[in-house]
Amino acid sequence: MTASATQAEAVALLEQLGVGTATGGARVVRSPIDGAEIGRLAEHSAADVSAAIGRAHAAFLAWREVPAPRRGELVRLFGEELRAHKAALGRLVTLEAGKIPQEGAGEVQEMIDICDFAVGLSRQLYGLTIATERPGHAMRETWHPLGVVGVISAFNFPVAVWSWNTALALVCGNAVVWKPSEKTPLTALASAALLRRAAARMGDVPEGLVEVVIGGAAVGEVLVDDARVPLVSATGSTRMGRAVAPRLAGRFARALLELGGNNGMIVAPSADLGLAVRAILFAAVGTAGQRCTSLRRLFVHDSIYDTLVPRLRRAYGSVPVGNPLTDGTLVGPLIDGAAFTAMQAALDAARAQGGQVTGGERAGVAGCDGGFYVHPALAEMPAQTDIVAHETFAPILYVMRYSDLADAIALHNAVPQGLASSIFTTDLREAETFMSAVGSDCGIVNVNIGPSGAEIGGAFGGEKETGGGRESGSDAWKAYMRRATNTVNYSRALPLAQGIRFDVEG
Ligand code: NAD
Repeated sequence: MTASATQAEAVALLEQLGVGTATGGARVVRSPIDGAEIGRLAEHSAADVSAAIGRAHAAFLAWREVPAPRRGELVRLFGEELRAHKAALGRLVTLEAGKIPQEGAGEVQEMIDICDFAVGLSRQLYGLTIATERPGHAMRETWHPLGVVGVISAFNFPVAVWSWNTALALVCGNAVVWKPSEKTPLTALASAALLRRAAARMGDVPEGLVEVVIGGAAVGEVLVDDARVPLVSATGSTRMGRAVAPRLAGRFARALLELGGNNGMIVAPSADLGLAVRAILFAAVGTAGQRCTSLRRLFVHDSIYDTLVPRLRRAYGSVPVGNPLTDGTLVGPLIDGAAFTAMQAALDAARAQGGQVTGGERAGVAGCDGGFYVHPALAEMPAQTDIVAHETFAPILYVMRYSDLADAIALHNAVPQGLASSIFTTDLREAETFMSAVGSDCGIVNVNIGPSGAEIGGAFGGEKETGGGRESGSDAWKAYMRRATNTVNYSRALPLAQGIRFDVEG
């Protein structure tokens, strides 16, 4: 495919998805596949962002009074739009983020899945009734919408993460203002256009319920600093979280942070090595190592090291790297040249710290000279050195030996990030230990599957520098609502809690 063909296809998809043209403005959007320009957009000013928040706030005031199951109807219709346009939106994800088509479509499937989840949730938002010590009293919790939810998202899941937040936020009665990554605004506009179609079909949805603002960090900061935004869900690097979190804390707003990971896997002596090799490949080289849950650190038991690592080297040597639009490609491009430079710097550091690196060089791909393709790298390390403790958003897998499980778990946990982890073992004691209080310190702890590829039913997120946020399934919806404790006295007396007596004439 030539550069202009990439652009032509993006233009056609934007038209089909209801965005229209994306040709005016100073911000150039490029496809990582070949570096071709696929759109141009104007950035929003601070005043534009403030106005968008104002529209969303006005919409919230009406939306919060709509019964939750009716709010669920909007999300149900959005799910229908996504089903009808899955191929087109998935393809646009491939063009804009460089994911292979399987993963582009998978990302849209994840949006559909969270819509289904949220529709069910819209009839299941619940609070507790709690025993009270006072006779003739009742105590319960009620959950209410929060207001405008700000969503800041990263390039690598350009649409799914927004949908996790938005599907839940909407059924919970909130409005949403979304600042997508400046690298992937087109898929954002397309997703918002599909949501607008769903709103038009439903008919009584307030204008401005979901707004998209275009721009970089400065636009995100406006959202972060606005007192009308009680919750900001921010997904991206730990560096971004470090900037955003104190600003939110400064105005006592809520932060839902989904930040960097540095995910590990332990392969124990009893592991099924066939399964382990396949899982390692998917987790370490899939999405060109650009998932927050990508496998980056591998701890292999001494007794199997010399069997597993040569197998991995062979598998790495044969993994198809190339244009994601070509059938059979499993590893597409890095997002841009800066990601390539960061990967090379990390590999240089790994070598300087005693690592033996295979792979990692730039791969030539016909017709894609402007894209940054790499052979995934295996770096056998003498120890967990500084560079291993650092998240480099590229397909680098650091491999280390271990001999004692407790030591391996300690090493596994000795990094600042705490997102996803896994162990390959058929030994029940090892598996349960890894999932126990003395095991992995991550938010996602798996056995006999890799750390990546979560499904939406579970709560997603991690500890430490990953930010502590939880999105998606389980009871993650509670982050999008405020809780009130209600005590009702239906008696003719006024007994006080803790037996306090305060007798006055009434
Ligand atoms: P990034 O931090 O460069 O950008 C993420 C988003 O934050 C973008 O929209 C960006 O414009 C915005 N931003 C940056 N600085 C900001 C500021 N000071 N104020 C407000 N907004 C700001 O991240 P990226 O390169 O797009 O994505 C890769 C990173 O995201 C990796 O570290 C990856 O692990 C992480 N990530 C985490 C999760 C998760 O769920 N934990 C999911 C996806 C990606």
